[in-house]
Amino acid sequence: MHCGQHRYPDPFKTGAFETNDSGEAVCEVCQMRTPYVYNGPFYALENVEVICPWCIKNGAAAKKFDGSFQDAGSCEVVADKSFLES
Ligand SMILES: [Zn+2]
Repeated sequence: MHCGQHRYPDPFKTGAFETNDSGEAVCEVCQMRTPYVYNGPFYALENVEVICPWCIKNGAAAKKFDGSFQDAGSCEVVADKSFLES
């Protein structure tokens, strides 16, 4: 599918992130600029538009917004260690 936009190769190979060519996206969790913006589903009450991959990986995004990327039953303890490691 060609949409005419310039796109970098996706280093995450998940399709869940999109690159931000302007580099002006600021993660709403860590307040750091990020070239990558999470583009997948985020189950939170707040309307979170910009989350960097690192905050998702270390759980900061889910903790800050009380959201969930996985089953809500496992929000207190990260049972799956592999979720935190690359
Ligand atoms: Zn972040």
